[in-house]
Amino acid sequence: MLFDSHMHTVFSADSEMKAEDALNHAEMLGLGLVFTEHYDDGFFSGGLEFSFSPEDYWKTYEPLRGDRLRLGVELGLTSENREANRAFLARAPFDLVIGSIHLVGGKDLYEQETFAGREKGEFYREYYRTMAEEAAAQEMDVLGHIDYICRKAPFANPEVDYGSFREEIDAVLRILVERGIALELNTRRLGSRLALKELAPVYRRYHELGGRYVTLGSDAHNAEAIGVQFERAADFAEGMGLSIVTFCGRKPEIVRK
Ligand SMILES: [Zn+2]
Ligand SMILES: [Zn+2]
Repeated sequence: MLFDSHMHTVFSADSEMKAEDALNHAEMLGLGLVFTEHYDDGFFSGGLEFSFSPEDYWKTYEPLRGDRLRLGVELGLTSENREANRAFLARAPFDLVIGSIHLVGGKDLYEQETFAGREKGEFYREYYRTMAEEAAAQEMDVLGHIDYICRKAPFANPEVDYGSFREEIDAVLRILVERGIALELNTRRLGSRLALKELAPVYRRYHELGGRYVTLGSDAHNAEAIGVQFERAADFAEGMGLSIVTFCGRKPEIVRK
């Protein structure tokens, strides 16, 4: 059974998805789920704090946890929140920890103004460097959406562009391999043929450097978005020789070789 290992329910500041709706939808699709609620220490957006109580989360969802549902967290990574993230993880026995870059230099990559006056080359280099630094410094099982910056970047070609950022992306991938961190294949942008084509050299290189594990994650904030593009993603992973895993108790489980 494949797992959707990245999604947000009501414990995330920006989601209204109910656990029950997520589980019903996943059952229909034949998928297992990992809830990965947002914790971005000190980050507010639109007046919402991207935080939750791990104790309440555990108490609420623990009765649902089992073969088809795991309980995780998505940590926003910045150089300032290393200690806060460590303390947060100690508060519940999370099954899976995603580490994600949502901010660069304190600026939200989801906001257009973040890109004002920036040039793609220098900004993407800073993004990948920040990712490498935090992947080396922080605790995580999975690196989330390596192509996150592409979602909102206003450049003519917002893609990851391995050819131009080879050195910086290789630095990220080397750290993942060294530390045994899995690389997420975030499926949100996989409807785009161009996105898939641009991601191919990144995952090929990950394999070349010794990486073997990927997770599939829709990053769903509503039930209908669960499992989006999973067939395409599973074919892509298989084509790269990568195994699809999920995590239980912070240990990888191969769900498809
Ligand atoms: Zn994210
Ligand atoms: Zn997410």
